[in-house]
Amino acid sequence: MRDEQGAPLLISVTLPRRELYAAVWQVQVGRVQLYLLDSNIPENPAPDDRNLTDRLYGGDRRTRIRQEILMGIGGIRALDALGLRPSICHMNEGHSAFLALERIRQLQHEKSLSFNQAQEITRAGNVFTTHTPVPAGLERFEFDLIDEHFGDYSRELGLSREEFLNLGREHVGDHEMFSMPVLAMRLSSGTNAVSKLHAWVSRGMWGSLYPDTPLDEVPIQSVTNGVHIQTWISDEIAELFDHYLDPAWREEDGRPDLWAAVDDIPNDELWRVHERSRRQLIAFARERLHQQLLRRGFARSEADASSRVLNPRALTIGFARRFATYKRATLIFRDLPRLKRIASDPHRPVQFIFAGKAHPHDAGGKEFIRQIIHMAQDPELRPHIVFLQNYDMHIARQLVQGVDIWLNNPRRPQEASGTSGMKCIYNAGLNCSILDGWWDEGYAPEFGWAIGNGEEYPPHEEGHQDHVESQALYNILEKDVVPLFYDRDDDNLPQEWMRHVKASMRQLAPRFSSHRMVQEYSELFYLPSLQRVQRMQADDLQQGLAFSAWRSRLEQFWHEIRIESLEFSDTQLVVGASFEVKARVHLGRFNPADLRVQLYSGKLNTQRELGAHAGDVVDMQPLGERENGSQVFHARYAYHVGGERGLSARVLPRHELLPDQIHQGLITWAQTSP
Ligand SMILES: *Cc1c(COP(=O)(O)O)cnc(C)c1O
Repeated sequence: MRDEQGAPLLISVTLPRRELYAAVWQVQVGRVQLYLLDSNIPENPAPDDRNLTDRLYGGDRRTRIRQEILMGIGGIRALDALGLRPSICHMNEGHSAFLALERIRQLQHEKSLSFNQAQEITRAGNVFTTHTPVPAGLERFEFDLIDEHFGDYSRELGLSREEFLNLGREHVGDHEMFSMPVLAMRLSSGTNAVSKLHAWVSRGMWGSLYPDTPLDEVPIQSVTNGVHIQTWISDEIAELFDHYLDPAWREEDGRPDLWAAVDDIPNDELWRVHERSRRQLIAFARERLHQQLLRRGFARSEADASSRVLNPRALTIGFARRFATYKRATLIFRDLPRLKRIASDPHRPVQFIFAGKAHPHDAGGKEFIRQIIHMAQDPELRPHIVFLQNYDMHIARQLVQGVDIWLNNPRRPQEASGTSGMKCIYNAGLNCSILDGWWDEGYAPEFGWAIGNGEEYPPHEEGHQDHVESQALYNILEKDVVPLFYDRDDDNLPQEWMRHVKASMRQLAPRFSSHRMVQEYSELFYLPSLQRVQRMQADDLQQGLAFSAWRSRLEQFWHEIRIESLEFSDTQLVVGASFEVKARVHLGRFNPADLRVQLYSGKLNTQRELGAHAGDVVDMQPLGERENGSQVFHARYAYHVGGERGLSARVLPRHELLPDQIHQGLITWAQTSP
């Protein structure tokens, strides 16, 4: 990108004792402009600075924080230099979270605002998605790295060191770190995880940021990932869809009604197309293997043996991903004799194609790759197992189009979503997976297989877990998958198998497409955020400033609020009979309109306390006049189920510009239960 004089457009961020400059490149990706920042330019004399953007993973923590300063702060500056002022910034994982600080600084500077004022207004336009429950995937920095890089910056924001650190403070074991996900959550108006199970796990991980809040109500929603069908589908299947489905499927693939017509596709056509993709995959895998063997120094005659591996008609199972250890790429190798029996059955052979890459710092993942390559050289397994190196989208496309089964066996619940298995749905493949990530909500027995029943094991039982789950996997293959695949009619068609394939497409296709995902992001986050941003910014920030003043006052004086008493009209509580509950609330300096007083009925845990799961919530209404700073609120309620349930009441903040009713630290419960 160039500036008005035609010179390369440069932006800069401040590093200790120097400016770091970056040039901006534009890439057109379909309909989207992607901007890239490039520090490898002569304006940066230091080699470390010039190399900062050369690779994603590499270098140390200092490299990492500088990359993230450049992406977050430099990213907003680059957009600004291009004349782009986004209404909403979606932070995908914590890596980009410094952008929220730069948006605050920008607004403070332009409108002469305090940090708090600018924070409230910009927060409305930030959305955050957390992508992993695995601690190694969470970005955290030691405080000294923050001090080294943010001394001047925090002074510019008008924050003391402690105030700045508070924005990202997280207790990790017995010490404290600056956590990018915490920063992102504090400075966003909405947070989501990438599957329903992952949202539940994330609420547990981050629940301590929301003291006194039932875990179910910790404001982390879920938007399950989806895949861009056009990117992953084979041309042949796309043609079949064009022929048998409403042509709108290409643009509106999230519509369930569209996919009902999958049943109209004749089984023999669908199967022929899928078998052709499998043959192409086998040819591709042999060719790749040939190149790999030559590169590793095998003689050409030995490398030529790759043309004899794999069988175009055999049941083909794919396993490809980043080789993080929790994904357990080697699980299927636990009982080698049993694996060999399954793979080399002369009438019903089974073959495996692996592909993957390990994170450069993940020694465990690299070791898994080494083991698989080693085991695939076993003479009995060699014809049935291939490992493809340098996993990328090209390999992924061949794999997801050609395999019959996609295998996924992570340790639950560490797979936030997983997406490769979704790519197979559209290509007439079936899934066999641990109930983790998307499969925990996608699975049903009529179209796939679940390894186990969603059990979770403590870390010291990992060996036992691997044993149990590998046995379950062998059982599924032997008893279900293999017999179903080879159960053929007179035309050699696996009719029952095809019934599974069609049920999987019909039911899962609209649910796991990126259209559905983007629609959910729009409805849950982008559009409500946009409305709040527009209201806050109108009339030179009038409502935004009023809101920020309201919120500061609330935070400062929230401690004045108390629930003084809680009583109810009937002591003979029977299911179905309604009764009245009254709460006397000391409002301090607030008005009933600032607050939401709620009756809360929930299951009791063993300590007879309200538990983690959200209960019934009923808004209570003011009754009578305010006396001595206190106001009575009341509601009618009836239990609809019996059992150990407790009643309580609570006070939350209320404002139409608040995105959620739950806010860190702004919740007060009745001390007594009636
Ligand atoms: C789809 C895909 C991934 C993501 O796979 P998960 O199932 O989400 O682990 C990674 N790499 C490539 C090349 C892919 O195509």
